[in-house]
Amino acid sequence: MKACILHTISPIENNPLELIEAPQPQPGENQILVKVSVCGVCRTDLHVIEGELPRQVLPIIPGHQIIGRVEQVGAGVTRPKVGDRVGVPWLHQTDGVCEYCREGKENLCENATFTGWLVNGGYAEYAVAQADFVYPIPEAFSDEEAAPLLCAGIIGFRSLRLSGITGPSPGKRLGIYGFGAAAHIAIQVARHWGVDVYAFSRDARHRQLARDLGAVWAGGSDDEPSVKLDSVIIFAPAGELVISALKVLKKGGCIALGGIHMSQIPPIDYQLLYYERVVRSVANNTRQDGLDFLRVAAEIPIKTQVQIFDLAEANAALNALKHDAVSGAAVIRI
Ligand SMILES: [Zn+2]
Ligand SMILES: [Zn+2]
Repeated sequence: MKACILHTISPIENNPLELIEAPQPQPGENQILVKVSVCGVCRTDLHVIEGELPRQVLPIIPGHQIIGRVEQVGAGVTRPKVGDRVGVPWLHQTDGVCEYCREGKENLCENATFTGWLVNGGYAEYAVAQADFVYPIPEAFSDEEAAPLLCAGIIGFRSLRLSGITGPSPGKRLGIYGFGAAAHIAIQVARHWGVDVYAFSRDARHRQLARDLGAVWAGGSDDEPSVKLDSVIIFAPAGELVISALKVLKKGGCIALGGIHMSQIPPIDYQLLYYERVVRSVANNTRQDGLDFLRVAAEIPIKTQVQIFDLAEANAALNALKHDAVSGAAVIRI
């Protein structure tokens, strides 16, 4: 099969992904083989390629927002069936037995594996997934539209909930820093729930996209709207944004950090944090987050804005993402 593979950690400007002919993987017990149709491009793929995550498995095929059809099932698999359309997400597998799994916090599992980081992902014609960890994809979405829902969408949804917006909240004010793939989906859920969204981005095109999607205000990262915000989500991987966000956050408000990697957070003046303001990270997601999100996404229905690349253009897609040159979400068509 054709696959884009990473042999050596490198800045994406060096175009480190190599398009090769690789052996087609075989599904083991409780696994399925998926014929990949499209794979979304996520900032985490950049962190994998550029070596910003704590562990590295090489060589690796990145990509963890896979939409495809089940080609073959391994022993013990009753669902999904051959021919079903499925989404293969970031969370590849958990152990189901550690203290976090037992408490319903499988996103924090001690022995979790992750698609496109610790096991091969979807920048390829075929990928193997755990049957119990894939999602059925609502009919409302084409393959291309659905791909960004799988990580940008689900993580954005969990970030929204952890920031304190857990359901319909008319009149609440949410700030979003960094207006890429996750933000352009999260804003649609927030608007659906009656939330006023304030978008912060260094990029004028991203501010325009935010306004087009219903943001009541859009400004630069250091701008301060005339009102304080109930909740903030920071999707951009820049630690100094925590300070900017604390300045616009109400007493008792919460900032959720949506990325897996962030540059160092500068020292925080305690007066900025005082009055019970909360700063918390968002780590992965549970399968229930995914099911909840996909149901809401189909109800709305969410419109994803995608920019399509060929598999041979994977390096170009990631370069574009790194340099804010993607409007909405990048998706690789296999
Ligand atoms: Zn576990
Ligand atoms: Zn991701």
